[in-house]
Amino acid sequence: MNQESPKPSAVLNGQTAVVTGGSSGIGAGIARALGEAGANVVVNYSGSRERAEEVVARIREQGSQAVAVQADVSSESDVEAMFRQAVEIFGTVDILISNAGVQQDAAFTEMTLDEWNKVISINLTGAFLCARAATREFLRRGMVPGRSSALGKIIFVSSVHEIIPWSGRVNYAASKGGLMLFMKSIAQELGAKGIRVNSIAPGAIRTPINRESWDDPEAKAELLKLIPRNRIGDSSDIGKAALWLASDESDYVHGTSLVVDGGMTLYPGFISAG
Ligand code: NAP
Repeated sequence: MNQESPKPSAVLNGQTAVVTGGSSGIGAGIARALGEAGANVVVNYSGSRERAEEVVARIREQGSQAVAVQADVSSESDVEAMFRQAVEIFGTVDILISNAGVQQDAAFTEMTLDEWNKVISINLTGAFLCARAATREFLRRGMVPGRSSALGKIIFVSSVHEIIPWSGRVNYAASKGGLMLFMKSIAQELGAKGIRVNSIAPGAIRTPINRESWDDPEAKAELLKLIPRNRIGDSSDIGKAALWLASDESDYVHGTSLVVDGGMTLYPGFISAG
């Protein structure tokens, strides 16, 4: 392989990624994919230190550098401290994967303000705090010749529920719908500065957040009716998409949501109705 075409596994050599919620599920899948591609990875977690350390160990086995950093993404001081730590350890940050997210489900009339605030503050305010800190670092550092065609890359992990309304989870759907226009608005604002901003909108991916929908055979059969591809996704499906969005292969992709959902947003209920 010559220098013009680095092997696909090393496309992120020399770059540093912060992956929020990297200790579990989709975040862990993305952290591993970026590490495998040569990136240094900051594996963020809020409480699951051991699981974060396991992800770090896997990345180190792949030959890349990684470190686990605790921070609550809804806390401004935690987020600022996490980025300071990332810069101290690796020199800068090139890629933000804003992935940390939670659900607190309740019927609308029963939903407490705490349940509403918790989801909005982690899923949406957390994305704002992390994207702002990443952007400030990209601008402080400036372009590094030969590293990437972009000054920095921001990738939000949103959801098909930025499009599909979700009864019983209005806090979650509102957080993801808000994230979509937040992503597009900062993409509009930051594009000319060389910062690429996109989202991934996953469908059903097998992780702890939705265990009740795939652990129980009846619930799983119901879920599969919503997925034309007829399987539940794996966190590696999202890892591959994130790797592409973080690499220069997607240089002209900006301000978009990449839906990775096995066809869930094709509204498969209309196959036999309507
Ligand atoms: P998960 O396995 O439950 O992982 C959630 C991650 O977020 C964990 O690493 C958790 O760390 C972290 N986290 C939670 N609160 C945090 C906070 N305040 N600060 C920092 N980190 C925090 O869930 P997942 O399915 O991988 O979800 C990841 C993202 O994908 C979420 O944004 C979710 O909305 C989105 N998504 C998931 C699916 C799906 O089907 N799984 C579909 C669409 C979108 P700790 O364990 O340390 O708290």
